[in-house]
Amino acid sequence: MATLAIPQNTIEVLQKYNFRFQKKFGQNFLIDIRPLEKIIQAAGITKNDFVLEIGPGIGTMTQHLCEHAREVTAVEIDKHLIPILVDTLSEYENVEVIHEDILKVDINRLAQEKNQGNPIKVVANLPYYITTPIIMGLFESHVPMESITIMVQKEVADRMQAGPGTKDYGALSLAVQYYARPEIVANVPPNCFMPRPNVGSAVIRLTRHNEIPVQVLDEKQMFALIRASFNQRRKTLVNGLNNAPGLSYSKQQIMEALEQLELPANVRGETLTLEQFAMLSNLLIHC
Ligand code: SAM
Repeated sequence: MATLAIPQNTIEVLQKYNFRFQKKFGQNFLIDIRPLEKIIQAAGITKNDFVLEIGPGIGTMTQHLCEHAREVTAVEIDKHLIPILVDTLSEYENVEVIHEDILKVDINRLAQEKNQGNPIKVVANLPYYITTPIIMGLFESHVPMESITIMVQKEVADRMQAGPGTKDYGALSLAVQYYARPEIVANVPPNCFMPRPNVGSAVIRLTRHNEIPVQVLDEKQMFALIRASFNQRRKTLVNGLNNAPGLSYSKQQIMEALEQLELPANVRGETLTLEQFAMLSNLLIHC
């Protein structure tokens, strides 16, 4: 079948099946081959790879993944897309389509069954409302995974890649960078999609660290500190942490920890590196 990544071929399929876009599933289908090739290239997909695609839509990227990978599993939530995918992917024998919400799929089991527990590659063009839960779910459940290469809202990609002291730096940057090295590999304008989204998109590759880059005694506690620091962005770190619901450190304890880290008492959370948050968390754990 000819590529779906040109408008007339996508329109033809949509009309054939009388498909109606569902806003609640964040459906914007790719109609340009360039971002698609960029994703495949950035993910470094070869005939040795098992690829999990999240949200295949009508199969535009899936077709190209099938050409490049050993095996592809595509998980799609919208039941109306399943018969379409059966049709558009009919010439490929190395693909399985699963009709399910990705948040309900046991991806560890999938990686075990399809790739003998070896690191898989995840590829997706994700709706914005589900980007963070999907990515964090993949990392936190310790799925064996080499990389996640995803198209997301440009603003979300910027936040993932941001460093300390920048306006985009926040809890998402630190959570992503704790598990992976982010790199924006392409910006994708709205006219590459049908229907056109209101905002620009970007392709970002998250390459999982072989080892977590910081030593932290209690991950959960560190992320609670991080969230509390950024929830009250305009406050100093001492006031932000002291006022945070769910944390019970006195100002004195926080100031002593900052002193040990040689940080000023009026420091703001948004200037701390991941390593400094890890050290702060390790100091406060004893309080
Ligand atoms: N990959 C296709 C493309 O690039 O043309 C479609 C991308 S579209 C932005 C997102 C796709 O994810 C839609 O097909 C949507 O139905 C699907 N989707 C949304 N939420 C999902 C979920 N929780 N689990 C699986 N698929 C989901």
